[in-house]
Amino acid sequence: MSTDGLTEKKLETLSKLYQDIVPKSPETKSFYLEILVSCNGDFEAAVGLINDSLGVQRTTDFNNTCAKRGCEGGLPNRATKVQKSLNSFIKDPNNKIKSISDSSSSRISNKAIELFTKEDIETNIKYISVHKNVLPESLANSLLRNLSEDGDNFTPNQFYLFGKKCTSNHLTKMFSSSEDISSGNIRIYYNSYSLTDIAQYDDNLKMAQLLVEDLVNDCITQRDLLPYQIRAPNWKGDVVLVNRYYKESNLDWHSDKMTSIGPQPIIASLSLGCSREFRVRKSYPSNSQIYIIRPPHNTLIIMHAGFQEEYRHCIHGHAKNAPLKPHPISGNVRINMTYRCYLRKFLDNCPKCKKCGSAMDLRRAFKDPKTRGQYIWQCSRSYIGQECDGIVRANFDNNSLTVEHFDEEGSRWLAPDDQEAYLAQSLK
Ligand SMILES: [Zn+2]
Repeated sequence: MSTDGLTEKKLETLSKLYQDIVPKSPETKSFYLEILVSCNGDFEAAVGLINDSLGVQRTTDFNNTCAKRGCEGGLPNRATKVQKSLNSFIKDPNNKIKSISDSSSSRISNKAIELFTKEDIETNIKYISVHKNVLPESLANSLLRNLSEDGDNFTPNQFYLFGKKCTSNHLTKMFSSSEDISSGNIRIYYNSYSLTDIAQYDDNLKMAQLLVEDLVNDCITQRDLLPYQIRAPNWKGDVVLVNRYYKESNLDWHSDKMTSIGPQPIIASLSLGCSREFRVRKSYPSNSQIYIIRPPHNTLIIMHAGFQEEYRHCIHGHAKNAPLKPHPISGNVRINMTYRCYLRKFLDNCPKCKKCGSAMDLRRAFKDPKTRGQYIWQCSRSYIGQECDGIVRANFDNNSLTVEHFDEEGSRWLAPDDQEAYLAQSLK
């Protein structure tokens, strides 16, 4: 968004409107700009959003000027909060806005909360980091151009839901720089299907791999390590699943399967083109707070170790008649490149169901606080529409990746802040 004269005027007006609460500084200007962008430049909507967060009701003449000019007024019908970002600019502690998670009743807002800044996202959602403008602009643009126009082998995903065969409304293609993988010597399973048409990386994809690998491995060295996660510099971006989303595409709530990438995986997700709502919530409790992130073109979201265990995510369906801000290169198309580091140990030793011989899927129990944390292998047959209750505890120290005796405890992990489970399991 260019800061043309009108935008400058809007920013100036916003700044004046709240300057007794939010002292003016260079940072506040960029913060107001971010809010304005998120409201598609709609001044009234931005004021409504900030009013809502600060608990005030302010209006200015700008509204009238704006209305006369024929701007589309009215609040966008989405729930958005900006408390944390605003707080960082408010010096007087009495004026600070109470965060929802800080309130004594630990009440959960029944509205989805949109997070705008890197700081907001990383404070509210554990195990995520956000990196804007991650690739050189020319590289990001040519990847977007190639991947949105590529007509070869982009296919819908097929999967089963409650025994029914479903077809995704987005298209998918897998690429790899590993000879063994693209030649089929090493078979990659995705959603219980063996992928055979894996394309090779071109020079752009190779360049992106190196840049993403460096960043992810660098992040690993700067974060607390979880017990089963990969150590730097071993994380590889040699396989990428490219998803192409159209305006009508969406992806339901899920966490990514750990079957071939192991426990506490790190998944790097690069967004290119049209910006879409990426929603995130804790896996438990069932009414956990929903957060909205709208990653702009060329933004990498790293889902760090622990994220697939503790959180679920989705690409929110876009209302049919609501406008989408088209990207100059790809229009309404969003390209999402998800890098997963496949592990030889898990590809080679994926256990087979003792009851029916099918492959098994790796999950971590989370629903019941008494058993939460336990990693389990579950027969994948129910996933492809047939019934089998084959299940076995995982043990990552064994070559079989399973416990040898049924009563053995196996591998487990609880998030350090999961007091509910620590209490239920009488652990300290
Ligand atoms: Zn089975």
